[in-house]
Amino acid sequence: MILTARPRGPSLFGEAATQALALRRWRIAGCHPVAPAVASSETGLCHYLAMTTTRPQPVPPTRRQRFRGCLLAGAIGDALGAPVEFFSLDQIHAHFGPDGITGLVPAYGRVGAITDDTQMTLFTAEGLLRAFVRHANRGIASYPDVVAGAYLRWLRSQDENPDAIEEADGWLIGHRPLHQCRAPGNTCLSALQEMQAARCGGRSANNNSKGCGGVMRVAPVGLFASHWHDHAKAFDLACELAALTHGHPTGQLPAGVLASLVHDLSLGHGLGTALDRAMAVLAKRDDADATITALGNARSLAAETIRGNCARRQALSRLGEGWIAEEALAMSVYCALVANDLRDGLILAVNHDGDSDSTGAITGNLLGALWGEAAIPAHWREQVELAEVIAEIADDLHDCRDWKIGDSAEDPDFDRPIWNKYPGC
Ligand SMILES: [Mg+2]
Repeated sequence: MILTARPRGPSLFGEAATQALALRRWRIAGCHPVAPAVASSETGLCHYLAMTTTRPQPVPPTRRQRFRGCLLAGAIGDALGAPVEFFSLDQIHAHFGPDGITGLVPAYGRVGAITDDTQMTLFTAEGLLRAFVRHANRGIASYPDVVAGAYLRWLRSQDENPDAIEEADGWLIGHRPLHQCRAPGNTCLSALQEMQAARCGGRSANNNSKGCGGVMRVAPVGLFASHWHDHAKAFDLACELAALTHGHPTGQLPAGVLASLVHDLSLGHGLGTALDRAMAVLAKRDDADATITALGNARSLAAETIRGNCARRQALSRLGEGWIAEEALAMSVYCALVANDLRDGLILAVNHDGDSDSTGAITGNLLGALWGEAAIPAHWREQVELAEVIAEIADDLHDCRDWKIGDSAEDPDFDRPIWNKYPGC
């Protein structure tokens, strides 16, 4: 859909005031005007703006641009927050001034360094693709089992010599910049070490953690599951993958919500509609009270902020610090709801007392899926570590549905490289 400019009729207000009023009303409802929704009520705002503006409206991102936007903006949010992950807001201001951190600065020896959040997000994507290839070739695959194998490869990347990589390990782990320890979460490390010792991948972790390590890595589930057009299936698969390392229900349900949101955003729904749909699934799951409350608070505070009744920093601090899953999700949803653009949303998401790289990553996943790759500032896109690997795996998640592999293989010259890249073993 391309929106064209239409002449504006007489108004009691100026054009800017009229648009601002429309914007405010629609954002209170939890949606944004920049990315027109498909088959949802939010298309009404775009129509309204088209009626009241003399400027052309933006073209909606393609689905591929949303896939790339989701993973690249997530990585950029992660990199933006990396230098201040363990800083209080006062310390951030002392180092970077009253506006806080507003650009990519060196961390882990380079500008744009990603952390464990993006590393594990990439291995989630790899695991899903390997399960897909396995199913196409063998007719059977357990997504949690295969993704557990991907997480064990990530674990190896944290402390092993990359020269020990074998052909069966596939394409992703061969990227040496991934072989860096970037403050990985203790829960993820210990749960995967236990899994490795017990040789029982795919089972739920034997702990009671609700840290944010389960939610911060599952955006690819929403992208991949969008091929199924089933947001509830995305929700449940993400919960299963979070359960591999986090045993507490509140360590898992926010992952389900994020996957459902990314699923819907990648298909063109607005954020308000996506939230309504995710929360409807959440309400049917056991032990969901903490996650429901956190998301409800995020939506209420966003409405208050947009009405001018609550400052953004104050609202964010009331939602928590983001070390635990429901707080990280709620803070990220809040940032996405009140963001003026992608850059503004990511800067807001990393300047607080808590887990800046995880809230930056999740906010980036949401805003990137909502507004697409083109919304990312070009210099951030160029600076972020492993940008081409991230874009390539986003493209593979987008394209895999059309791969002619396994039983439907028509060209062995195409089939073999796919298997070598994502061995379904
Ligand atoms: Mg991290």
